[in-house]
Amino acid sequence: MEKIVLTGDRPTGKLHLGHYVGSLRRRVELQNSGEFDKIFIMIADAQALTDNADNPEKIRQNIIEVALDYLSVGLDPEKSTLFIQSMVPELTELSFYYMNLVTVSRLQRNPTVKSEIQLRNFETSIPVGFFTYPISQAADITAFKATVVPVGEDQKPMLEQTKEIVHKFNSVYGDTLVDPQILLPENETCMRLPGTDGKAKMSKSLGNCIYLSDSEEDVRKKVMSMFTDPNHIRVQDPGSLEGNTVFIYLDAFCKDEHFAEFLPEYKNLDELKEHYQRGGLGDVKVKKFLNKVLQSELAPIRARRKEYEANIPYVYEVLKKGCEVAEKEAAATLRDVREAMKINYFEDKALIQEQIERFK
Ligand code: ATP
Ligand code: MG
Repeated sequence: MEKIVLTGDRPTGKLHLGHYVGSLRRRVELQNSGEFDKIFIMIADAQALTDNADNPEKIRQNIIEVALDYLSVGLDPEKSTLFIQSMVPELTELSFYYMNLVTVSRLQRNPTVKSEIQLRNFETSIPVGFFTYPISQAADITAFKATVVPVGEDQKPMLEQTKEIVHKFNSVYGDTLVDPQILLPENETCMRLPGTDGKAKMSKSLGNCIYLSDSEEDVRKKVMSMFTDPNHIRVQDPGSLEGNTVFIYLDAFCKDEHFAEFLPEYKNLDELKEHYQRGGLGDVKVKKFLNKVLQSELAPIRARRKEYEANIPYVYEVLKKGCEVAEKEAAATLRDVREAMKINYFEDKALIQEQIERFK
């Protein structure tokens, strides 16, 4: 069986460090491993419209931002198909068929959708499209016969829903769809990177992000004003690592080499943590170190972005080509699905013959 990756992002803003550690970094590794037959990276504009129906301009503007972020982190259009969801109408058709295989109460149980409804204050006015987006995600994944889906932890319920749809479809209509595997980040802190304000998730919708495209000065300012241990007032006080955002970010980004380069008095993160907990290590020093670590990761991304920003027509060309490739792929799956569901009336020669006999 072919090894196929599918994943994506909503064009509701620029991409941030949460996306980077949760999924982007992994995608680039998978792409460059050479182990995959096909890699599809989707800008989920149709999904973004489910809770931004009144703001299409926001989605339209952010398509190019996300595409620039993709190229600047190292996604390579020669190796990965970068495309826009709404340009592949087969995905909508597939969602429509899957809706028959999922109950309303099953959707209501989805914990991520539940918390997103709360976050958006939808209360009793939940758009139907938003409520059903886990179904459309199942369509996205299965249309490309994805075997591996690299995402952050908040996507776990979506993958479970997708697997249920695959199993149900295959048991009702015969073996047609591929059962996908979720690929979560290896590092616990990367599953769900908190915001700079210490809130549970760095999220475009919460405004607590460090963006991949932030300037050097913006990153520095955001790091220096980050949430730490509120009880760590004087340098000599013992500090706590619990919920300490600066240390959580170090867990996600720092390698031993960073110590040799930027803070040689410590061998590794364990030594730094130990000193912080013992007392005698100030927040400012740790923040300055984190800033250096982040800048060293972000500088090459920023530089590549500048190059692509100077060549916007190329970026649109990449997306357009990607959409064509993606549509072909999804159309092939749709043919299989229609055949399995017995709705391929004009391709089924046996059916026509059967009807001729019947009406003789
Ligand atoms: P929105 O607020 O519009 O939902 P978002 O910031 O949650 O935006 P998405 O486009 O929904 O971003 O998510 C894209 C991918 O990035 C998903 O795989 C998701 O799991 C991952 N991701 C998003 N935020 C984080 C985070 N803070 N930590 C780890 N992974 C994340
Ligand atoms: Mg999200």
